[in-house]
Formats: sequence, C-alpha cells, structure tokens
Amino acid sequence: MTPPAPSDAGLPQVALAHGLRLDNQFVRELLGDPEGGSRRRQVEAALWSPVLPTPVAAPRLLAHSAEMAAALGFDDATLASPEFAAVFGGNALAPGMMPYAGNYGGHQFGHWAGQLGDGRAITLGEGTNAAGERWELQLKGAGPTPYSRTADGRAVLRSSIREFLCSEAMHHLGVPTTRALSLVATGDSVVRDMFYDGHPAPEPGAIVCRVAPSFIRFGHFELPYARGDVALLRQLVEFTIARDFPHLTGAGESLYADWFGEVCTRTAAMSAGWMRVGFVHGVMNTDNMSILGLTIDYGPYGWIDDYDPDWTPNTTDAQGRRYRFGWQPRIAHWNLGRLAQALSPLFGDVAPLQAGLDAYASTYAALDRRNIAAKLGLADADDADVQLMQRLHGLLQAGEVDMTLFFRGLADLDTPMPSLDVVDGAFYDAGKHDALLREFEAWLQAYAARIEAGGEPAALRRQRMRAANPRYVPRNYLAQQVIDAATQGDVAPISELLEVLRRPYDDQPGNERFSERRPEWARAKAGCSMLSCSS
Ligand code: AMP
Ligand code: MG
Repeated sequence: MTPPAPSDAGLPQVALAHGLRLDNQFVRELLGDPEGGSRRRQVEAALWSPVLPTPVAAPRLLAHSAEMAAALGFDDATLASPEFAAVFGGNALAPGMMPYAGNYGGHQFGHWAGQLGDGRAITLGEGTNAAGERWELQLKGAGPTPYSRTADGRAVLRSSIREFLCSEAMHHLGVPTTRALSLVATGDSVVRDMFYDGHPAPEPGAIVCRVAPSFIRFGHFELPYARGDVALLRQLVEFTIARDFPHLTGAGESLYADWFGEVCTRTAAMSAGWMRVGFVHGVMNTDNMSILGLTIDYGPYGWIDDYDPDWTPNTTDAQGRRYRFGWQPRIAHWNLGRLAQALSPLFGDVAPLQAGLDAYASTYAALDRRNIAAKLGLADADDADVQLMQRLHGLLQAGEVDMTLFFRGLADLDTPMPSLDVVDGAFYDAGKHDALLREFEAWLQAYAARIEAGGEPAALRRQRMRAANPRYVPRNYLAQQVIDAATQGDVAPISELLEVLRRPYDDQPGNERFSERRPEWARAKAGCSMLSCSS
C-alpha cells in the first residue's frame, strides 16, 4: 500500500549520493497505520506507523564504518558533506526514503509486555545495493514515535558509542549482527538518570544509523498473535519468508516449518558465537531477538573479563540475573518457544514447531562442540575433550581468570614442556593464582598430553586457536574510556578503537594496550561493570 503522508511537519529533501536502490518493501507490502505522527497510541491491525525523525540542533558525523559506507555506496566526499550529517541526524531525507517505526510486542524478563514497537528507532528506507544485498537504514535516537510511550525517543552519546563500536566489532569477530553505518552527534542534550537514583542530568545526544537486511523481531509475530489477528500474522510470515528467506521454496505449512527451522538454527549460531567470544547481551527479551538470528539492540551488554557464567552487566536484571552469560543459550531457546507459540495458529499440528525447537538444541550442541574444539585447537572434540573444557571453565571461574587473555595465551603453550607462564597475565588475583596453581598445572598437563597424543603440527593448533580466540574485544572499560574522551570533546579515540576491532584475531604490534586485563579502577565503575537498560 502507499503510506499516507505523515501529519508531522515535513522534512527537507536533500541530494545524497548512495548505492542503494530504495524499494521500501516493508512499508509498500505490509499493512500500515493510517495515522501519521508520533501521538502515542495502541496501533491495531498494522505492522508499522509512518513517522518522521524530529530535527536536531547541529548534526555532526563523529564516526562511520568504512565497510558499511562502501557497501551502501557512500564515498568520502558524501560522508564529509553536511547533507550526510543532516540525513543521518534526522534533519533531512534523501529522495525515495519512507520513514516508519515498526510495531511489535515482546516478552520482557519472561512476561508478556504487550505492544512495544520502535520507540526510538525510525527506519529511513530499505533497498538493494549493486551486489544485490538488501540493507535497511534505521536511525536510533531520532525522536518520538507512536511507540515511545512516556520516553523521548532519544539516545545519549555514551549508549550510541557503545552500539556503534560493538555492533561493528561483532561483525569482525564473525558473529551475526546488525551493523552500524554512522554515529552522529545531535548538538542537543538529553536528560537521563544514569544511575536511576533520582539525579537526572543532561548528557550529549547522538544517533546511530544501524543497518541490517531486516529489523523484524520475534515480537513482530507475537503481537498479532496476542491480538488474535491471524490474517496480519500470516501476511507478515509470508512477507518475511519471501523477502528475507528467498532460498526457501514450497508453500503453506511445510514452508513455514522450514522457515521456523532456519530461524532456530540461525539463532543457535548466534548464541554459540556469543559464548565463544564472551559477549553478554544483557536484555534478551523477545523484542530484542532478530528473525535473521542477528545480534540486535545493543544496550546494557557487556564482555566477559574474568570468566563468570553467572555475570550479567544489566543492573535492571541484577535480581534474577535471567540474562547471565551462561544462560544465554537456554534463554534463546525459551524465546524461540515464544515465537513458536506465536506461529501456532498457522499450523494444524505443533510437531513441526517442536522439530524446530529440537533443531535449535541439536544445532547449538554441535556448535558448542565445534567451539570447544576450536578454542582448544583441536580438529574435533570428543566427550573427553568436552569434559576437559568443563574442568577448565570451573578453574577459570574459581581462579578469576580473564577469558580472552587465557585462551589467546594458551595458543602459545609449548605442549612438550607445558608451563603456566603463557597465561600468567590472565589472572586478576595473585592469591587465587597461587592457591589454584596445582590444579591449573594439572589441567595444563592433561591438555598438553591430549595435544601431543593428537600428533598434529603445533602451528596448526595455534592457527586454529588464533582464529577462534580473539585478541581484541570491545571490553567494557575500553568503550568507557572512549566515551569519557568523546564527552570531553575528543572523538578520535572512537575511530581508533574501531580500527583495532576490525582485526580482532590479528596480533597488532603497537596496540597491546587494547588487549590488556581490565584495570583495577574499572572493576566496579559504572559503565565498565554494570549498566542499566535503555538509555
Ligand atoms: P529496549 O530495552 O531498548 O529493547 O527497549 C524496550 C522498549 O522501550 C522498546 O519499545 C523501545 O523502543 C522503548 N524505548 C527504549 N528507550 C526509549 C526512549 N528513549 N524513547 C522511547 N522509547 C524507548
Ligand atoms: Mg529493544
């Protein structure tokens, strides 16, 4: 359908050279809300609402992703132009853009939360590039939408820097994720109560343009299901399969079953990726689960420093720690269960949905085993290797050992003469190091014996380990240092850190300071250890 003109004041159009053929399939093919503007409301029988970004005072590009700029066809001159900052700061539109906010619901912390929707995300447009890739451009923090409820639709610089850096880092780590094109300062301030302690203060505002082939979430299917709108549910399923899973053929229930199965296996790949690199999403609500199995909605996420499966960075989740590191694979399964439930009206029999959920479990188990093998440098992991890894996990936790540094250091072990020296730098607590010395040495002996028995060249083991165990991850404190500098007006460190994170598996001489243990000052500092939900 043709969307109605938004009733908000229009935005100027500017010429902007890019490489996308905008077709805006989501809004052209799916039912939309007849009302424009950002009046807060329940939106029934529609999957999106037309809404324009709200202009900001002084948009200024702070950083961009070179890879995404290339994929989307933005050259250097365009990136540097005021038109680019205007469009990606929400002050102007390029021809062919059809801004909208998506309508979806979700289960938050295990409970159905009703309509949520894009409260501070506005898609500008979607289309295909010369390579045939589909990309949707979505501003985060561009002002209110019908789904903003009591909030302002804005984002602060600190959370925008975090999303910009981490989503790009995840891509380079090889974990499926949404991407980020640009980070634009708005020149406006946004009031936030950072510590939720009754002391709201103004902070600089910013807007990230995030990019993905699709921003459809599990919650997009849950909302029509909850409202009993099976026609809308079916329309969305048919659309999603046709646009985002074009390789799937067939029709009706068997097609839907194949599709759900693929959503399950992709979600398994995403969870396994998180567990391999030590990423904790922090808010795995079903509205934050991508139908493409992409990591989406970078909020109070965190990175594992010392190995702790019970850790969550999210203060909002401090009580139950539902989204703790070690529970992520099972939470993803639970979320898929909610999606299965939402899809159930399209199935005569739940067996295919159960089969999808089972495929999640078996795929995750297989990938977990592959991760174990790769992280330990083995060709394959058998049951004894799984046990060896479990024993190591227990030691890493008890010994308060840095996950990233330990596995990276382990690659340098001289297996004929194993010594803990190679991972000494990964210990946070000298007392625990000394107390567990014997256990660690025994583990190293067992590991070295396993490697020696395999009889493979040492170089091959090292190569496998270096491809699976990153040297550089966007540790919470590194992001915080960049945020502190940017808040003082120095934005160069944003791109400097991004540059390092583009090659996370390479040793980068001169960049050692980005691959160090979390410093003591960062142990309990806000932003470095704990974060709150939406900011
Ligand atoms: P999140 O926890 O970021 O996934 O957000 C949950 C819901 O709150 C989503 O519907 C968001 O769009 C909405 N939301 C979060 N922050 C804001 C904000 N500053 N303004 C408007 N809506 C927001
Ligand atoms: Mg969200």
